Amino acid sequence: MRHGMFTSMIRLSKSSLGQAEKQAVLKVLEIEYLGMGDEVKAFEEQLSTFFGRTAVCVSTGTAALQLALQSIGVGVGDEVLVPTLTYVASFQAISATGALPVACDVLESSLLIDLNDARKRLTPRTKAIMPVHYAGNCENLDATHAFAQEFNLRVVEDAAHAFGSRYHNRKIGSFGDLVCFSFDGIKNITSAEGGCVVSNDQSAVQNIRDARLLGVINDTESRYAGKRSWDFDVCNQGWRYHMSNINAAIGRVQLARSSEFFRHRQCIAKTYDRLLKDEKKIGLLPINYNDVVPHIYAIKLDSAVDKHAVTGNLNTSGVQTGTHYLPNHYLSLYKKSGLTLPVAEKIYPTLLTLPMHFDLSLSEAEYVCNVLKEAINSD
Ligand SMILES: *Cc1c(COP(=O)(O)O)cnc(C)c1O
Repeated sequence: MRHGMFTSMIRLSKSSLGQAEKQAVLKVLEIEYLGMGDEVKAFEEQLSTFFGRTAVCVSTGTAALQLALQSIGVGVGDEVLVPTLTYVASFQAISATGALPVACDVLESSLLIDLNDARKRLTPRTKAIMPVHYAGNCENLDATHAFAQEFNLRVVEDAAHAFGSRYHNRKIGSFGDLVCFSFDGIKNITSAEGGCVVSNDQSAVQNIRDARLLGVINDTESRYAGKRSWDFDVCNQGWRYHMSNINAAIGRVQLARSSEFFRHRQCIAKTYDRLLKDEKKIGLLPINYNDVVPHIYAIKLDSAVDKHAVTGNLNTSGVQTGTHYLPNHYLSLYKKSGLTLPVAEKIYPTLLTLPMHFDLSLSEAEYVCNVLKEAINSD
């Protein structure tokens, strides 16, 4: 069944790094200043220009979510609404603050948080809602903000999938309460590891700037001036969650290349949509790829299709696949007796993610579709 045309496995996701990224890292190594300094300052400035408001860089997307929550006072005794169908990072970031992640069901079509379900889970302890922009899509974001306003909640967006996506013609991150991105190795742009929080809330922003450097007050300002604080005060619990110059140097090159990345990801998704839309046993996500830059491309298989057989077939044909995601309320740490989230539980076994990354060619995407259709129809 292997078509011979592709000599190695078609990967589900990967980083795409060119000479420019390698040169940028070498330059940092030569300067021998690896910590948080000029490169991070420059990356933050470029991100702030990209979003049109303040961005703060941290060590990972998970750290961005945790610090964003803590900067608005979320902690022990508080609850945060979050869709169950997300990477465990969203849940761990919430529980790291001492707060309780409250798993909510998702909408069947888009897999975004179901606000009607979330409404049932409100308590006097609910402090925030964390919408997750699944695949880069966030079509119910206005409704999420209205919901938050109605119930006096803060909104911390998990926009790890949505770097470059637009909503009502505005960039994700350019508006909204606190918006968190990830630059891990497989995201729309990477800094190897990294993340950022974007917000207009200057007190939250200052809190995150200090918290990422062990809570040392104004240490960011000293480091960006090429100094360090020796005589300082600490008032809050902090973490060692700052970004290093090496990571920022990679991120800066990737940001400069980002429109090329965005266009190609959109092209792949449109190719998949075009080749799969008439396949009766496949459900597509209703996403407009002129606005959304997809981080992943997930499909829903008809419940009669044997997913295990189909993924086995794809794998032996050299195509890696994934599942986004195992519902978090199935995990031992987040299980709650008696809790069922029927839509997520129904959809989860049918979810299949196809390869999506900058180095995937359109003919490889076509090959993936052909193998997939063959596998489904021979099943
Ligand atoms: C990648 C990701 C994160 C976490 O980002 P890291 O940089 O890997 O810590 C959080 N949420 C979602 C949905 C993600 O895909």
